Amino acid sequence: MYKLIDGKEVSAFIKNQVKDEVEVLKEKGESVSLAVIIVGDNPASRVYVNNKKKACEATGIISYEYALPEETKEEELLALIKELNENSEINGILCQLPLPKHIDEKKVIDAIASEKDVDCFRAENVGKMWLGEYDFAACTPKGVMLLLEYYGIDVCGKNCVIIGRSNIVGKPMASLLLEKSATVTICHSKTKDLASFTRNADVIVAAVGRPKFVTADMVGDGAVVVDVGINRDENGKLCGDVDFENVKEKTSYITPVPGGCGPMTIAVLMRNTLVAYRIQKNG
Ligand code: NAP
Repeated sequence: MYKLIDGKEVSAFIKNQVKDEVEVLKEKGESVSLAVIIVGDNPASRVYVNNKKKACEATGIISYEYALPEETKEEELLALIKELNENSEINGILCQLPLPKHIDEKKVIDAIASEKDVDCFRAENVGKMWLGEYDFAACTPKGVMLLLEYYGIDVCGKNCVIIGRSNIVGKPMASLLLEKSATVTICHSKTKDLASFTRNADVIVAAVGRPKFVTADMVGDGAVVVDVGINRDENGKLCGDVDFENVKEKTSYITPVPGGCGPMTIAVLMRNTLVAYRIQKNG
């Protein structure tokens, strides 16, 4: 019998921790704040930004939204980021991706001050993760680690197979699992015989971006399956990268979509913003 990993419960727990700490700071006359930049009117980005703003409200973090039109020039966006970098009232800056095609995402990410890069996208923050010298880690992978920890799933010495090698999910996921002494394999679209890796995995993290891609025959008995994917199925219904209904009975633990990794990403963003505040205060 499998156990469902409840991302809503764990994210509420993390957000409550953040809220308690923010309240203590407020009593001392301090505040923690996050600047959220959105360029254009991508509906999915709007949903993500609204959810992040809601989480800020729930935790007592002040959020400032900068909604810029689609035709915003790259220089204008970079000038706004520079202003936010220099504003000591702002602790975290996030620029919702994807950006319109005429804007260079890498340039924008690199423009965010490293101590305000709460998404942990900048090369130097990614490097710090790999060195194990980081203050905050990439939100989605860190969210996965916190889920595993909350359910007492120790990855030390386990075979962990990640499907996907993106800079946002797959690669930082590998770094955090390795830090906990997992044996990590990263698979991708060029991997030969993917199922031969996943079938032998104690833990599978699916970050592929393809609906119901991980099928029951790819999963070994008793595996822990973490589904990072957020997709729409053929009926337009939200689903993950894992064929949940057919896979769940083979697993020991499994995350649902929605209600698994998604809420954790936002909870970690709140936590990272609080950490950023501390770094800036303590120098
Ligand atoms: P991405 O940048 O598109 O990366 C997808 C990865 O999957 C790539 O590395 C790709 O390999 C690999 N892949 C594609 N087809 C494959 C195949 N047939 N076999 C093996 N590997 C294959 O996506 P992402 O940004 O990492 O996101 C992955 C999923 O997670 C998406 O559904 C996204 O919406 C979701 N997501 C969720 C959260 C959250 O908060 N829960 C956060 C971020 C992303 P190549 O590198 O070889 O192309």
